[in-house]
Amino acid sequence: MAKEKELCSFCGRDKAKTNMLIAGLNAHICDYCVLQAKAILDEEMPQKKAQAFSKTKILKPYEIKAHLDQYVIGQDDAKKVLSVAVYNHYKRINQVAATENDEVEIEKSNIIIVGETGTGKTLLARTIAKMLNVPFCIADATVLTEAGYVGEDVESILSRLLQAADYNVEAAERGIIFIDEIDKIARKSDNPSITRDVSGEGVQQALLKLLEGTSVNVPPQGGRKHPEQKMILVNTQNILFIAGGAFDGIERKIGSRMKANMIGYSAAKETDNIDKANLLQYIAPQDIRSYGMIPEIVGRFPVLSNLNPLDTDALKRILTEPKNALVKQYTKLFKLDNIDLSFDDEVLDFIVEKAIEFKLGARGLRSIIETIMTDAMFDLPSVKNIKTFAISLDYAKEKMEKTNLAKLKVA
Ligand code: ADP
Repeated sequence: MAKEKELCSFCGRDKAKTNMLIAGLNAHICDYCVLQAKAILDEEMPQKKAQAFSKTKILKPYEIKAHLDQYVIGQDDAKKVLSVAVYNHYKRINQVAATENDEVEIEKSNIIIVGETGTGKTLLARTIAKMLNVPFCIADATVLTEAGYVGEDVESILSRLLQAADYNVEAAERGIIFIDEIDKIARKSDNPSITRDVSGEGVQQALLKLLEGTSVNVPPQGGRKHPEQKMILVNTQNILFIAGGAFDGIERKIGSRMKANMIGYSAAKETDNIDKANLLQYIAPQDIRSYGMIPEIVGRFPVLSNLNPLDTDALKRILTEPKNALVKQYTKLFKLDNIDLSFDDEVLDFIVEKAIEFKLGARGLRSIIETIMTDAMFDLPSVKNIKTFAISLDYAKEKMEKTNLAKLKVA
């Protein structure tokens, strides 16, 4: 039988008339059709992505919190406050769209979350953004400097959001920006006029404009503005800003404010009721202000919440309970090699104990578990007929002893 002629299944071109004919299971495609298909994709995909972002579901605060509960352990107060703030924010955006000239203007509810590092600030913001299906980016306040100085301009934050939104400006304008380490741009001294404070108060002033809601020319690729660069105009009015910071030492400010407020006959009784081990729960806007944030910034973050330090119980739950808990992740990794992995309960206690001992918090859980698991992950895929693998306390201790623990501290 004569060999069948090879043709492009899309345009019918003979193989001889193409530069390349790629074979599939039951079809062929020529280089011309590949290029044409690519052009169609380039045209259609951004619109598809735009549609994907535009479907912002408005969930009720209760539903938002229930969703957060699946990923974030504890921190109930902060979750509640965040759920309400996010719900109001999106209600506000929809209202703005529906009744442009209504007289009652609902103000934006930007949020500041104060809590030690590794207690879930970023996780909360990220989980919310994912749930709402809006563009989300994390900006590190430590690299920001006042325009004209070495470092990143404040506008670079918007470049990042635009990138996260695939340059869909409309989607970006409804997005969420998480500003990490906001406490690092606190005013350096009580007297602002001594020297120029380019990475402190200057940045706060620049940030203020974004928070107030303004149209900003954004360099699409980030970096510094330069004259030939094409700019994209982004309005920040409906962007939700969530800021997080550890505000190291703010407990002292909270403590002295509370003491000052308690002058009077019932003071002694009230002092007894204060939980001195966790003063952060009493945080108020004026504490952030005395820490070095300018009053205008404090005013632009009307929602203030705090995260609690994670105790033994919370850390253990973080290992096993969240939807993508570490133990679940490792079990899944091993399952892909057809091995049933299990951890003895004491191992989990041991991991938590080490995380606390080395002051690594939740962030350290992963590096500890990784240390314990590395040898098993290296060896087991090559061992034949192994169906189960249980991590015992002795095994975990042995692996931990072999490690240079100092290396975990950088986690
Ligand atoms: P930060 O407060 O410094 O922003 P992160 O949110 O980045 O901390 O937390 C670091 C990691 O620790 C997260 O990726 C997560 O795995 C874990 N983690 C921290 N807090 C919690 C929590 N409350 N519930 C579940 N996981 C947590």
